[in-house]
Amino acid sequence: MQNPTYDSLYLFINGKWLNADDRDTAAVVNPATGNVLGRLPLATEADLALALDVARDSFDVWRHTVPAERARIMKRAAELMRERAEHIATQMTLEEGKPLTESRDEVLRAAEYFEWFAEEARRIHGRVVPANRPGVQQLVKRQAIGPVAAFTPWNFPAITPARKLSAALAAGCSVILKPGEESPATALALARCLDEAGLPKGVLQIVFGVPDKVSSQLIASPIIRKVAFTGSVPVGRLLSERAADGVKPITLELGGHGPVLVFADADIDAAATGGAANRFRGTGQICISSTRFLIQRPVYERFVAAFVAATEKLVIGDGMAAGTQVGPLANQRQLEKMELLVADAVAQGAKVLIGGKRIAGPGYFFQPTVLADVPMSARIMHEEPFGPIAVMRPFDALEDGLAEANRLPYGLSAYAFTRDARTAIDVGDGLEAGMIGINQYRIIATELPFGGMKESGHGSEGGTEGIEHYLTNKFISQI
Ligand code: NAD
Repeated sequence: MQNPTYDSLYLFINGKWLNADDRDTAAVVNPATGNVLGRLPLATEADLALALDVARDSFDVWRHTVPAERARIMKRAAELMRERAEHIATQMTLEEGKPLTESRDEVLRAAEYFEWFAEEARRIHGRVVPANRPGVQQLVKRQAIGPVAAFTPWNFPAITPARKLSAALAAGCSVILKPGEESPATALALARCLDEAGLPKGVLQIVFGVPDKVSSQLIASPIIRKVAFTGSVPVGRLLSERAADGVKPITLELGGHGPVLVFADADIDAAATGGAANRFRGTGQICISSTRFLIQRPVYERFVAAFVAATEKLVIGDGMAAGTQVGPLANQRQLEKMELLVADAVAQGAKVLIGGKRIAGPGYFFQPTVLADVPMSARIMHEEPFGPIAVMRPFDALEDGLAEANRLPYGLSAYAFTRDARTAIDVGDGLEAGMIGINQYRIIATELPFGGMKESGHGSEGGTEGIEHYLTNKFISQI
């Protein structure tokens, strides 16, 4: 039976909210209780074929809708998101598990992306370039690239779709979005806001399904001109190959293994208490999380003690309960992965300073865990944990810290704590990461580019850079 506080689930194709009817369905589970919240209709091949045709036709409507009108609709949708923030946040916490306060914050930040990119829609300027021949006029126009296939994961069910949709819609693209099947109601609620704000039929469509089947059908279609994906490196690589077959650009936001360099001259308590809050926020299931804490040897013991003390105070529980700071993991698979990573590190000599075990009872809860003396051969020194495990390691000179920070093929987020201006400049220059926080863990803002380098992906979302990937350049020379 459907939980009364959880929305009914649909596909949103051609402006219609489609029930399961005779389609296959998947259960959506509350990760805090293990209870089934609802059943998600999965798109058939015919559903996806229809969505593609509609995306082609609606692109023609939307790209010819003047920017001021596109902006008006997007701002109205943002207003609706704000008005419905409590309801949408409840959906998010039920299906994803994060504390309600964080869900509320995420909905408001998603609304902000639509407001911000609404303004960017009005600033898609071209250029007039002086010619080398008399009487020739040379124009550079920037136009919407075409229908977009976008794939977003379960961990940030509002903000990750919002980053993609807001920029694509502002540019004039139609979008078929496949959100994570684990947390579908949040994306559907955002789509409702856009629909009710007056987005023309079919400009946004939401599909769910067997992810691999959906992405192969959508990306192979000549109708799709742009792909955007957030998720793991292996899936990002696969979708890159598919996009390359059709010579389509792809924006990728993939995993990370965020290093934190703590220098001996830093504010150690701020770095440690902020670090514990950052590491365990979202139960560690955040791509830009700080994960590898690299601490200069003279302050190693002090930092680790302060970090463990801050970890001990965290309140773990159902995200719907007041006061919860750390919710459950998303699913059983994540829970088992944490157990494997801890067992592997311990077998190789690591010490568990706190946590290390799943929490008995219903739901997918794992204790916030701090590991010290982890040998370099341990899996966790190479693989993104994507869960509530922090790794502590000492370093000596700046070059040693930087070398360890940059060792992995990831390059998403990195952090450093120091009071020395020279050190701050050197680590800012030397860290191989798309987003760097110095003396702080807050590195995201709507007006700033969000994205990584190396195997963490390419292409920025957010900021003035965010709309670029949904535009194409056209040069017209006329005499
Ligand atoms: P995953 O990459 O398998 O899944 C992430 C999302 O991608 C899911 O929503 C899934 O539906 C979708 N997906 C999976 N295979 C797909 C395919 N063939 N075509 C289209 N979409 C597909 O990862 P996961 O197992 O759900 O999560 C664990 C790992 O994913 C983590 O270790 C982390 O590296 C990564 N991840 C990263 C982010 C991020 O924000 N960058 C978010 C979630 C997960």
